[in-house]
Amino acid sequence: MKIATINKLCCPFDHSDLTLTRVSEDTEGKILEGWLHCPHCTRIYPIVKGIPIMSPDAYREMDMEKPLFEKWQKNLEGKKVKDFRLIE
Ligand SMILES: [Zn+2]
Repeated sequence: MKIATINKLCCPFDHSDLTLTRVSEDTEGKILEGWLHCPHCTRIYPIVKGIPIMSPDAYREMDMEKPLFEKWQKNLEGKKVKDFRLIE
């Protein structure tokens, strides 16, 4: 996903602006992996293969997302993910 497109996204719950953390991008600068974070409700939305996962909590499966956050542990800088929220 292009950064310009990502910058237009807002949190689906409270419509706050999201912050982007890049983990990897392609040669054209499109984000392949990373996450969006809402500073208001602290939800974290992973970007997988260029697609942000922004479904309602009830439709998300932590078991599926957990390996991603484990893989990104280094990038999360000591923060943890619980109930789809990023906690210190
Ligand atoms: Zn939010």
